[in-house]
Amino acid sequence: MKTVTILGATGSIGTSTLDLIEREPERFRVVALTANCDVERLATAAIRTRAAFAAVADASCLPALREALAGTGIAAGGGPEAVCEAARMPVDWTMGAIVGCAGLSPIMAAIEQGSTVVLANKEPLVSAGDVILAAAARSGATLLPADSEHNAIFQCFDFARPERIRRVILTASGGPFRDFTRDQMAQVTPEQAVAHPNWSMGAKISVDSATLMNKGLELIEAARLFPVAQAQIEIVLHRQSVIHSMVEYVDGSMLAQLGPSDMRVPIAHTLAWPDRMATPMPPLDLVAVGRLDFEAPDADRFPALRLTRAALIAGGAKPAILNAANEVAVAAFLDRRIGFLEIAAIVEDTLAGYDPEDPLTLEAVLGVDAEARRVARERVKDCVH
Ligand code: NDP
Repeated sequence: MKTVTILGATGSIGTSTLDLIEREPERFRVVALTANCDVERLATAAIRTRAAFAAVADASCLPALREALAGTGIAAGGGPEAVCEAARMPVDWTMGAIVGCAGLSPIMAAIEQGSTVVLANKEPLVSAGDVILAAAARSGATLLPADSEHNAIFQCFDFARPERIRRVILTASGGPFRDFTRDQMAQVTPEQAVAHPNWSMGAKISVDSATLMNKGLELIEAARLFPVAQAQIEIVLHRQSVIHSMVEYVDGSMLAQLGPSDMRVPIAHTLAWPDRMATPMPPLDLVAVGRLDFEAPDADRFPALRLTRAALIAGGAKPAILNAANEVAVAAFLDRRIGFLEIAAIVEDTLAGYDPEDPLTLEAVLGVDAEARRVARERVKDCVH
């Protein structure tokens, strides 16, 4: 019996994780679930799975959570510290599926336990990669990637011989605007941006997929997770999202992981790892897929690719600034305060306008994140017409 906690249990990844866990009740037992403020979904899931603890990050939602859990014996908590408390409860396996850098402190709390921590939540790894990896090395925690690309690489990567790897190739669907001109992109709405052609995901990552910032964040994520140089990590457009990523060896062999575009496949891999478990998806029908296409990504139309590569090369505080500015800009776009093209422009301006010392601790990263958000919010104000 594996004990599990899901941080961000009410979101797209959290719901997919619960779906898998609830199919095998003899194999998994839920300990804690967290959300921001979706009390109804959180309480329903906590009652269904007989969790011991449920926490909302937004403390103003705690009274409603207490009411929803009254008489169930499930303890309720509220505020960011309660989410960290959930992350600290001893379990075998934790899913980090909070959106954004809000997941950083809870992930650190989970890592301190020294068990298995699964990272869907990529933003903390981008902003605080060194801090997270050092904490995992100290506690002995195992970090597993749930992001489909990194999970694919993990499955193909020979960790015993990283020097025999020539390239790691991240595949990108290209998002909903892959064939749009810059003029067309200037007019797009949040509704168009969140309508991803291949994947069903939360709003923030859907917008990131449309700007290709998601692929850029994944580039940084890959550089954190796998022992290869940044120049060895390439991005290729692959519209069908059937190959989830590839690893090429020095002898010319290229290993790829293929599967349906459903996050339950990589999540199941991390849930059962190093074993395997069945998932409910129908097998991939290769004849129906028919063909696999590849194209070079266009960094002129999608400047996020250039910005993320530059932030990765510069290192220090740059990835944290990039991520914080992007979170602010995406939220402003979803609120219709700025246009789609202004997302990357705000990220670029924030990176240019703020140059702190390298953050070496969790507190320092959180400080850089907070200040970068302040600078980015100023840029958003300048953009609002
Ligand atoms: P969703 O927006 O669907 O869900 C986000 C979850 O985080 C919800 O449970 C939400 O609670 C909770 N949350 C939001 N804000 C806070 C906060 N301030 N503090 C604590 N919890 C909070 O996101 P996704 O599931 O799509 O994505 C989650 C993470 O996984 C992201 O980092 C994303 O990049 C990554 N990822 C997602 C993929 C996908 O297919 N969706 C694929 C690969 C990676 P509430 O419901 O109450 O708001």
